[in-house]
Amino acid sequence: MSVLSDLAAGLGRGSVEVVDLTATLSGRTPVIQLPEPFADTPPFSMEPLSRYDDAGPAWYWNVMRLGEHTGTHFDAPVHWVTGRDSLDVSQVPPEHLVAPAAVIDKSAEVAENSDFLLEIEHVRAWEEEHGPLPEGGWLLFRTGWDARSHDQEAFLNADGDGPHTPGPSAACACWLAEETDIVGLGVETVGTDAGAAATFDPPFPAHSYLLGAGKYGLTQLQDLGRLPATGSVLIVAPLPIEDGSGSPCRVLALVGR
Ligand code: MN
Repeated sequence: MSVLSDLAAGLGRGSVEVVDLTATLSGRTPVIQLPEPFADTPPFSMEPLSRYDDAGPAWYWNVMRLGEHTGTHFDAPVHWVTGRDSLDVSQVPPEHLVAPAAVIDKSAEVAENSDFLLEIEHVRAWEEEHGPLPEGGWLLFRTGWDARSHDQEAFLNADGDGPHTPGPSAACACWLAEETDIVGLGVETVGTDAGAAATFDPPFPAHSYLLGAGKYGLTQLQDLGRLPATGSVLIVAPLPIEDGSGSPCRVLALVGR
């Protein structure tokens, strides 16, 4: 197929760049903190089985403990109660995992207001400039929040009123889920919903509407600033965990240069 030969040649020449949008996993990877009485996910941890020692003289390997929703990760529809009868992460069709991306950049607005909400009119204005959202593609919400990902406290940005992080409004989440042909929403924050979304109607509308519509979420992406507004292709690789609600995943973007 010539399109794949062209792609391979472009990768070789550097006219197609591979941009890694994935955060490194470690014990310092920020994880969401829910209020009492809800169960929280543990931080990532890892311990060696052997490291060229008596337990394995020629090999090094580890065992890990982590939640499905840790670091850069994928939300399957079954993650939310509205999608409980829909797909688990192992059932997501692979053709949904290679898809075009649209990047909407609100990092300047978020720098002024950590509680910034993405509204329908913002996406409409983006479409006026760049054309319609890609059918079967991702909407990636760039906020500059990846600059905080080294620090759990700065990343969650909580005070006595709860977390202050950007996300879509309830109306926008509903519209993205029901009126657009996107496959999912990707964000740089700890979840697809805004920090204040527990108080929205419905609560956590990005989760509620998008997963309820059989769409997906991608969180804690980084380096979205290296992507053009349109024209990149995402390769999203969650592990096919049987009955899994999501998975840490590698997210790569192919970008023409
Ligand atoms: Mn999640």
